[in-house]
Amino acid sequence: AAKSAGKNRMRSFTPGLQDVVQLRHHVQSKLRRAMADGEIQLNYQPKVDSITRLPVGSEALVRWQTSTGEFIPPCNFIPVAEQTGLILPLGEIVFEQAVLQACQWNGQGNSPLIAINISAHQLRHPRFVEQVLATLERTNSQADWFELEITEYAVMEDVSYAVSVINQLKQLGFRVAIDDFGTGYSSLSYLKSFPIDTLKIDLSFVRDVIWDSQSRAIVRSIAALGKGLGLNVVAEGVECEEQADILTEAGCDQLQGYYFGKPMNAAAYEQWLGTYRPIR
Ligand code: C2E
Ligand code: MG
Ligand code: MG
Ligand code: MG
Repeated sequence: AAKSAGKNRMRSFTPGLQDVVQLRHHVQSKLRRAMADGEIQLNYQPKVDSITRLPVGSEALVRWQTSTGEFIPPCNFIPVAEQTGLILPLGEIVFEQAVLQACQWNGQGNSPLIAINISAHQLRHPRFVEQVLATLERTNSQADWFELEITEYAVMEDVSYAVSVINQLKQLGFRVAIDDFGTGYSSLSYLKSFPIDTLKIDLSFVRDVIWDSQSRAIVRSIAALGKGLGLNVVAEGVECEEQADILTEAGCDQLQGYYFGKPMNAAAYEQWLGTYRPIR
C-alpha cells in the first residue's frame, strides 16, 4: 500500500514496527560499545533540606557522552537497555561508579548520601543483592552511604518479590526510596508492607503545582501520606522559589531540582558544595 501511494508521499510520523526494532538494535550495539569504551559517566544532583535548605545528599544520574562529545539523554537509552537486558551491565557500571565516588568523598571527610537509580530488571535479577554486597565488600564501602531509588512501577510488577528484595537490601543497611511516586498504578496498600524510607513525588506534579490546584492537592496528599507512614518525602523537579515554598508548606522534607542545582559531574558537584549558600 505504501508503494502504491507513490514515492512523493511523506512517510508516516509513527514509526513502523520494523523501524522500532532497527532503532533498538542500533542503540543496543552503540550502548554496548559505549560501556566498553568508558563513555558512561555519572552526574550528581543535590538534594536539600526543605527548611534549612542545606545539602543532604545527591542523586547519581547516568550520562552517556559519545566520542564526538554528544550527550545522549537517559530517556533515549535507558528504555532500550531495559528491553534488551543491557540494563544489567549498565546498572553494574552505575553502581560501581557511585560506590567509588562515595569512597573518594568519604576519604575526603565528607559523608555524602548518594541515591542510585535501580531499574525493574535489576531488582528482578536473582543475583542482584549478592552482586551489590560483593561490590560493597570489594570496595570496602558501606550500604548506609546509599539510598536505592526504585520506581513505583518496578515495585508493583511483583509486589511480594519486591518486598523480599527490599527487605534484604534494608538488612544490608541501604536506604530505599520509591521514585516517581504517584505515577504507577498505586495500590496504597503495598506501602504498608514495604520497609522503605523515602517517597519521591514525581516531577510531573511538582511542575504544575503553582497553577494547578489538583497537582497541589495531590502533592499535599502524598506528603501527608508519607508523614503519616513516618517516611521521608522528597519533591523532585523544583525549578523556582514559589514551587519550593508550596512544597515545603505541603510538608516535603527535601527538595531537588534545577533551582538548587542541576546534575553535575563530580568535580562540578564538589565545587557546588563549596560555594552553595542556602537560598530562599
Ligand atoms: P528520575 O530518577 O526520576 O530522575 C529525575 C530526572 O529529572 C532526571 O532526568 C533529572 O535530571 C531531571 N531533573 C532534575 N531536576 C529537574 C528540574 O528541576 N526540572 C526538570 N524538568 N527536570 C529535572 P535524567 O537525568 O534525564 O533521567 C531521567 C530518568 O532516567 C530518571 O528519572 C531515571 O528514571 C532514569 N535514570 C537516570 N539515571 C539512571 C541510572 O543510573 N539507572 C537507571 N536505572 N535509571 C536511570
Ligand atoms: Mg531517581
Ligand atoms: Mg523520579
Ligand atoms: Mg522520572
